[in-house]
Amino acid sequence: MRQHKNGEILWYQFEQFAPFDGRITHGIFARQGGVSHAPYATLNAGLSVGDAPALVAENRRRIVATLPGHPPLVTAHPVHGTNVVEILPEDITDPAALSLRIATKADAMITQARGVGLFWAYADCTPLMIFDPVHDAIALVHAGWRGTSGAVAIRALEAMNDRYGTQPPECFVGIGPSIGPCCYEVDEPVRAAFAAHPFADRHAFFSTIDIPDGNGGTRPSLRLDVAASNRAQLLAGGVPEERIEDSGFCTGCRRDLFFSHRMENSRTGRHAVVIALR
Ligand SMILES: [Zn+2]
Repeated sequence: MRQHKNGEILWYQFEQFAPFDGRITHGIFARQGGVSHAPYATLNAGLSVGDAPALVAENRRRIVATLPGHPPLVTAHPVHGTNVVEILPEDITDPAALSLRIATKADAMITQARGVGLFWAYADCTPLMIFDPVHDAIALVHAGWRGTSGAVAIRALEAMNDRYGTQPPECFVGIGPSIGPCCYEVDEPVRAAFAAHPFADRHAFFSTIDIPDGNGGTRPSLRLDVAASNRAQLLAGGVPEERIEDSGFCTGCRRDLFFSHRMENSRTGRHAVVIALR
């Protein structure tokens, strides 16, 4: 990833999107450079975690000010599903607003509208950015384990194909920071959810490792690699391997940079991920 620093704000961009800097703007923001206090310190972009709305608004203002082109942020209410929503220019109901939330619940947003910053605030779930340079279309996906078990990334590509004619071999996909198998223990219901979806199950990366059981022995611990599972789905869906870039960051291991819902016992903030067409 390319790392940038604007004052105290630390943010990242995918290497493979660099040739398209004139056509898209995007960023993954670390937790530094904001105004929120612990446990949301400091650049918390999430409104639903208990932080003061005025502080979140200031953080979002800083995020928009930092991004090239300064696109206003548009988001949907994520529900760990597989619904895809198209963001249209008329969804910008208040041109002066720095951030807007549309009424539709969805875990993937797609658009061909210019200057609209598709935005979600994350802590462990996998952000996927899709860019189709042939049809000038983008998507942002919010892939936690549940969305991944329903192949939400593939649902986004299908919706882009329906609306814009997008072909997966022509797309570039960035996989953002998310919780890695090193930090992500899951239970049998998670494995069962994948088992109910043959495509997702075929491309799921489960493993079992031995960890201390607290009594001097060890016990088996089921792990899920959500980023690798999404990558495998994208490959199976036709996105070329050389067009998929993984940030390599585990949010659980890198709490110095990112928020981790799991590793910070649910009391934490959310880091911002944004992509817009210029
Ligand atoms: Zn980790």
